[in-house]
Amino acid sequence: MNKETFLNLYRSVSRGYIYRELGGGIGVYRLPTFDACVSIDHGFSARTGGVSTGVFSSLNLSFTRPEQREHVMENYRRFSSSAGIPWDSMIMDSYEHGTTILRVDHDDCGKGYLYDPLPPCDGLVTDDPSVTLITGHADCMAFFFFDPVKNAIGLCHAGWRGAKARIGSEVIRMLFSCYGSRPEDILCGVGPSICPRCFEVGDDVAEAFEQDFPSCPLRGINRVGKATIDLWQVAVCQFVESGISPDHIELMGVCTMEDDRLFSYRREKGRTGGMAAYLRILNSR
Ligand SMILES: [Zn+2]
Repeated sequence: MNKETFLNLYRSVSRGYIYRELGGGIGVYRLPTFDACVSIDHGFSARTGGVSTGVFSSLNLSFTRPEQREHVMENYRRFSSSAGIPWDSMIMDSYEHGTTILRVDHDDCGKGYLYDPLPPCDGLVTDDPSVTLITGHADCMAFFFFDPVKNAIGLCHAGWRGAKARIGSEVIRMLFSCYGSRPEDILCGVGPSICPRCFEVGDDVAEAFEQDFPSCPLRGINRVGKATIDLWQVAVCQFVESGISPDHIELMGVCTMEDDRLFSYRREKGRTGGMAAYLRILNSR
């Protein structure tokens, strides 16, 4: 594929989100295509409605920040209750900016908050309706996957390192090897993240992206003359390479740095809380 072909394809990808207040001040961002699927529930948390204070105000859902554990636990209690997520159904990633995806089921419920965390992993897949997949984010993309034919789901944390290493393709590969999912059946979505205008990088990083994604015109330049990278192109490119149909891809198009309902690691120079993405199957067939 040449750059022009890819750009046309990228521009054709649907973009949009639904912001829904769930009660108790809790809000979530949702993908319209996933929202229309009655057999799954998903979302990406806003920073409102929690008990954390200061830079973590208020719904900090990250256990890796220097904050009282009890605050984060209470935030998860409020968030899961508002979102209708069974309290003991959650399984959290243990992100390390790698590409390890783990298959999880009922036996893993509670890992990462009630019990010891999973081994290092940036993504999870399951076909078990008793579990809720959870991944942590602060500017990094969340990739959502749903195969309505096999009733299997996947969720991953895609920071720039993971996205560059094609973690999205890895989830699609895992859905195939674990559940027999065919790429043409899979729906993919991308949550809020740092946007193409805001993601400033060094020239070395920009060049590495250009080398790894030669068909994507993903490099830009910002007002102060620094290189920028469009991570949403990186996402779409790896989905399409893995056989996903462009009309099965949706980008929320929300920038964590520009939307003050969200925490942003870059905007707050690291002194900030974290958001969570969740995805679960509502019924089995
Ligand atoms: Zn932005």
